[in-house]
Amino acid sequence: MSAKTVPPPRIVDRKFVVPLLCGPGPCDYWPSVKEALANPMITPNCDEFYNVLDDIRAGLQYAFQTKSKLVLAMSGAGHAGMEAVISNLVAPGETLLIASRGMWDQRACIIANRLGIKTEITSVPSNTTFTMEQLEAELKRTRPVALFITFGDSSTGTVQNIERLGDTCHKYGALLLVDTVVSLIGVEFLMDEWGVDAVFSATQKAFSGPAGIAPVAFSALAEEKINNRKHEPPFYFDIKLLANQWNCYGDTRTYHHTLCPPLLWALRCCLQEIVKETLPVTWARHASSMAYFHKRLQEHSIELFVPKPEERLNTVATVVLPEGLDHLEFHKYMREKHNILVLEGRGPTLGKAIRVGIMGVNARKEIADIVADALADSIKALKK
Ligand code: PMP
Repeated sequence: MSAKTVPPPRIVDRKFVVPLLCGPGPCDYWPSVKEALANPMITPNCDEFYNVLDDIRAGLQYAFQTKSKLVLAMSGAGHAGMEAVISNLVAPGETLLIASRGMWDQRACIIANRLGIKTEITSVPSNTTFTMEQLEAELKRTRPVALFITFGDSSTGTVQNIERLGDTCHKYGALLLVDTVVSLIGVEFLMDEWGVDAVFSATQKAFSGPAGIAPVAFSALAEEKINNRKHEPPFYFDIKLLANQWNCYGDTRTYHHTLCPPLLWALRCCLQEIVKETLPVTWARHASSMAYFHKRLQEHSIELFVPKPEERLNTVATVVLPEGLDHLEFHKYMREKHNILVLEGRGPTLGKAIRVGIMGVNARKEIADIVADALADSIKALKK
């Protein structure tokens, strides 16, 4: 095709008012992340580059609370982590048990089915979570090679207790695969202690970084399965090859694909901030800010979608709007009048609740106050 066939378009500069990001993600950046993103490009084959990968791996071992060596970050959003975990650990024809209570386990099901994996689904109402008894009974009944479960679910605002769930899975010969996209950093998560075999997350939520790089970690049991597997996962998601690029075992600084240096710098910077604050302090900050937000909503007589306080997620709240209030109009008003971005429900909460994130750098009482008051004002204004 001649370069003259398509004329050069007019690509305009656009200015926009940056809202306070209080949806279920993305979240606002740490101020230091903005600077980190502007660090120089380093070429993906030099020592400086690989040293940054080593720093990130050490930070991620802390974030996941694991001593495993097989820890790295996928180039891509949270879905890249989901696809990597499933495709590396479950072969076509094998069975994956999916604990379904929201939208993300449904995505896991779609990914698994596209890979030729058989799926078994067990579910609970979306404003609750699973009991260990239900999960154990389903493991016994379906004998899957792995169980997929979402720890913090941003589509429902619930947090699933998974303490020691790994032991139960292992009793039935299954691996435990966990989605921590919207919960890691904001909620206590102990990979090794809880017996988790594979976990993925994302950096645009409680990490307070940009999207596009998805941390993953695998236990020794998962690593054994990966090393002995007979099937080939998609090349881009092949953890065996990526482990060599990320130098997980020592001296294998080998090229697999071109990583994105600004995202590496940003993730490294988020991890530095988290290490500085320390995880127990970060978890407590999220817990107290969210509890305060709930209290403020109660004062305004605003209801939550999840009835049991212990099942409510500390990063994202699902807030029920009064009957008859148009959800889209509500978001628009919050954005235009208060310059706050909250998002509509998704999956089971679509049309039933809106999703409000008090997480990452925004997990603070001052922000909880601003958002609670803005929600109350918007309800009052739009109810008229
Ligand atoms: N899992 C959960 C719990 C999520 O909240 C999200 C994103 N909202 C995803 C998975 C998918 O992540 P991403 O959009 O980064 O691919």
